[in-house]
Amino acid sequence: MTDVKVLVESYSREENGVEVTSSSTVLIKDSGLKILVDPGTNKELLLEALSKEGLKQEDIDLIFITHYHPDHILNIRLFPGKDILDRNTIYRDDRAVGFSGKIPHTNIRVIETPGHTHEHACLLAETEKGKVAIAGDLWWWSDEEEQKTDYESLMNHRDPYLKDKEALKESRDKILEIADYVIPGHGKMFKVKK
Ligand SMILES: [Zn+2]
Ligand SMILES: [Zn+2]
Repeated sequence: MTDVKVLVESYSREENGVEVTSSSTVLIKDSGLKILVDPGTNKELLLEALSKEGLKQEDIDLIFITHYHPDHILNIRLFPGKDILDRNTIYRDDRAVGFSGKIPHTNIRVIETPGHTHEHACLLAETEKGKVAIAGDLWWWSDEEEQKTDYESLMNHRDPYLKDKEALKESRDKILEIADYVIPGHGKMFKVKK
């Protein structure tokens, strides 16, 4: 069984014309590895949350990035030397090694979910409570938006940064089909209504 925990809650709001935002940051423990997903932008909150888990930066084995938006990746700089993974590549310093299917040496599935961006991917982990999708910005809500989680609302939820509408719909449908719970890039974890 894989252990999945929202380590830092996301936020997304505007303050005096400035966008203030950080993604959901998730800690996954699987097969003896500690994996951080989307380390976000907020250094203080992330380091505090790690220390509450009894972890230091060095204890993280690798970092997975759902997509290349700055609000998901800036805190990579707190983890120098760690492997960075995206949907199909492991980056170690100047080396890029391909992989597919699962994060190597774990049970965590990587599912390509283009739409919000072309390179977007979700993770799927089998946990005690069911299959949890770490979904990045497949869905995201600003702090003042109501988070509606019925199928129609989820399929049609607006995305101002959308790159490909048809691909996004397909990706959303795919994840709603297989996941029991979804952790969105910005918003609260929700249960998928079957
Ligand atoms: Zn985001
Ligand atoms: Zn994004």
